[in-house]
Amino acid sequence: MDIHEHQAKDILATFGVPVPKGGVAFSPEQAAFRCRELGGGRCVVKAQVHSGGRGEAGGVKLCESDSEVRTFASELLGKTLVTKQTDANGKRVDRLWIEEASEIARELYLGFVLDRKSERIMIVASGNGGMEIEDLAEEDPDSLVRMEIDPAVGLAQYQARKLAFNLGLEGAQIGQMVTVLKACYRAYRDLDAMMVEINPLVVCKDDTLVALDAKMSFDTNALFRRAEVAALRDPGQEDPRESFAADHGLAYVGLDGDIGCIINGAGLAMASMDMIQLAGGEPANFLDIGGGASAKRVCQAFRTVLSDGNVSVILVNIFAGINRCDWIANGVIQAYKEIGIEIPVVVRLAGTNVEAGRKLIKESGLPIVSADTLAEAAEAAVAARPQSIAAE
Ligand code: GDP
Ligand code: MN
Repeated sequence: MDIHEHQAKDILATFGVPVPKGGVAFSPEQAAFRCRELGGGRCVVKAQVHSGGRGEAGGVKLCESDSEVRTFASELLGKTLVTKQTDANGKRVDRLWIEEASEIARELYLGFVLDRKSERIMIVASGNGGMEIEDLAEEDPDSLVRMEIDPAVGLAQYQARKLAFNLGLEGAQIGQMVTVLKACYRAYRDLDAMMVEINPLVVCKDDTLVALDAKMSFDTNALFRRAEVAALRDPGQEDPRESFAADHGLAYVGLDGDIGCIINGAGLAMASMDMIQLAGGEPANFLDIGGGASAKRVCQAFRTVLSDGNVSVILVNIFAGINRCDWIANGVIQAYKEIGIEIPVVVRLAGTNVEAGRKLIKESGLPIVSADTLAEAAEAAVAARPQSIAAE
């Protein structure tokens, strides 16, 4: 789960990271007021959306007065911001962060990520900040410094100092960098984060370090024990298809194709998506319906998949272990009755109670295409698409 920049700054500040003074605004009037709170002069207005690359997309502006803040805020609020990191739909700007301007001498990059290979939290840093990490990795890979943290020891003092030296920091900057590194590590570990990124972390002209931007992302599987983090969720920034699914306990990821997928098990879901592509189609989503799927759950899965207007055919692929094929078949039949499905549906059932499941489908009289194997199901789904889409 992602949170806003101002929320990440609040959290990191409580752990000891220096951040600029500022305030949130939901209207142009409030934005102007925030500017006056900061002294009424030069300040930075920043769109709060769950994406980086806002600067280049026109979502960050240095303003000179409260009236300039008001004007820029009224242009920005309610607009959707399309950045390099969002899709073509962009993200709606519903709130702004107004902060004091900083006198930048140097921009650094600092990120904490989970390195799955070493099974450790890893620091990635660069003395050449401001650019996105992807661009840095491409354009200036030699500037990147990586450091693994041993979970039994934590971030050791000598490691933090070494990193600061590697980034070319000197004098009073070293001690400040050590503080920032330790604070980020504790925030990451104590709050079950997946990512902490400060880009840019700046060295100001007066030699102080400040986090000018902050991004945090959290492990959704740990939110049950981090109520204070879970409360920061902003559904307005999420893909509506994904929030609907999350609210119904379905693992769903929206994609760009037109073949809707209702599958049990993440592995089978991935395999089915591969088979669809092999057969010449494009999946509209990843969806794992999970074990023990009741008819009601199957219905919710249909609603989720159908909430995507691009879906032109649905592929149901169930290998029933804990599930039972007759439950699934009843769910599909119920979905037809309750939702009124008007697009082709291909169903492949295998495993527990498969005969009973197939019988139910066959005797339902509904226009469902049955398939025996995964490959047949994928081919049938691709073949069942309307001519207009198949031709594209
Ligand atoms: P992002 O584009 O979404 O990553 O947003 P950032 O918060 O990183 O802002 C983009 C850029 O705006 C930064 O890299 C800075 O160069 C600039 N910026 C942000 N805050 C300030 C500030 O207080 N003073 C100055 N001069 N520039 C700033
Ligand atoms: Mn940034």
